[in-house]
Amino acid sequence: MIEKADVVIVGGGVNGCALAYELSSRGVEVAVIERKHLAAGATGRCGAGIRQQWSAKENAALAIESVKIFERLEEELGSNIGLRQGGYLIAIHDEEDMKQAEKNVEMQRSLGLDVSILESDEINDVVPILDVEGMNAIGATFCPTDGHADPFKTTHAYADAAMRKGAKIYKFTEVQDIVTDGEEIKAVKTSRGTIKTPVVVNAAGAWSKKIAEMAGIKLPNVPYKKEIMVTERIARIFDAMVISFKDGIYFSQQEEGQILGGIPPPETVTGYETMPTLPFLEHMSRTITRYAPILKHINVLRQWTGFYDVTPDALPILGEVKGLKGFIQCNGFSGHGFMLSPMVARLLAQLITGEKLSLPIDRLNLERFEKMEFEAEKSVVG
Ligand SMILES: Cc1cc2nc3c(=O)[nH]c(=O)nc-3n(C[C@H](O)[C@H](O)[C@H](O)COP(=O)(O)OP(=O)(O)OC[C@H]3O[C@@H](n4cnc5c(N)ncnc54)[C@H](O)[C@@H]3O)c2cc1C
Repeated sequence: MIEKADVVIVGGGVNGCALAYELSSRGVEVAVIERKHLAAGATGRCGAGIRQQWSAKENAALAIESVKIFERLEEELGSNIGLRQGGYLIAIHDEEDMKQAEKNVEMQRSLGLDVSILESDEINDVVPILDVEGMNAIGATFCPTDGHADPFKTTHAYADAAMRKGAKIYKFTEVQDIVTDGEEIKAVKTSRGTIKTPVVVNAAGAWSKKIAEMAGIKLPNVPYKKEIMVTERIARIFDAMVISFKDGIYFSQQEEGQILGGIPPPETVTGYETMPTLPFLEHMSRTITRYAPILKHINVLRQWTGFYDVTPDALPILGEVKGLKGFIQCNGFSGHGFMLSPMVARLLAQLITGEKLSLPIDRLNLERFEKMEFEAEKSVVG
């Protein structure tokens, strides 16, 4: 193992690997420390969705810029990432939803997004299998450039490209402590040795709170157990990801034909419990077949769990912690960290190397929670 690095990144999920790529592309000596295999955390368990339709301007801007990067990523990294842009259709169930949707769409359009509000009788033009009455929809919003990509392929594509540019990635290596002098980062202690460094990036997903504690910093993040399932493969019957903020459901048809989707389990579970449950499967099956009765006869192949790393406003925590030079946060993605990763990585690399940031991220610093000055993201599912 190397003895020193310009930057040590904790966590080999999509965010850690994307940042390793962006930094090594700028000539920075970077080491990623991952205690398991790459994408072992939320990244390898996620719904793979890429959505630009958010209520918070910060999330929308990060997602819109990320999509621009995703669209060129295969070419840039030289590997397939399984990107498919079939759009996202978001159900609107009542007048309250409609008011929020109109507000969201206005803000999203101000950022240049192609997004529209559909009447209920236009929903089947986009997703023919939906039972508009069964799902209680009075309309929907639709953005054709939303979609999904393969989280494993994307993470490995970033990691391989980073290693080609000189990044070191240590798998099955655990970060055990962070050494500081109270004002600055000095080193990272791992299960395979100590690396001297002036910069540590905390990209440890649902374990970020524990990593921050090693440096004496308190994060407000809470790990939430989330459940998700996948069916057998069938012929293509729809292209868009379908979601509802009221019902919390999301589902899409993957490249190979499986239906992949999730919904909040009837019981909210925080902490690191991983057991999949029957109540989730029952609730998911009932809701998805209410939305799309044609799916009644399809077999579920597998269900699993993963953690959302949730902040009080469902926006990520990005940037350097005040009072501890060199300690950079890249966590708190609250269920949307895959889709934001390309732009987040680019911005943090710009921050670390002292470049001008292409988007401001001050509003996403840790200190916002001290002042309790935040408006929460409303457009969340799962
Ligand atoms: C069921 C589910 C569905 C989701 N659906 C979507 C979706 O459709 N779209 C979307 O954008 N997002 C989705 N998300 C959220 C998304 O998966 C995460 O926000 C994103 O993957 C976070 O990536 P990351 O790299 O920041 O963290 P992670 O992928 O969690 O990676 C963190 C890594 O840190 C490692 N680590 C932890 N502690 C240590 C240590 N001490 N030493 C070394 N390594 C350590 C872990 O092993 C892990 O690999 C979903 C999440 C879940 C659970």
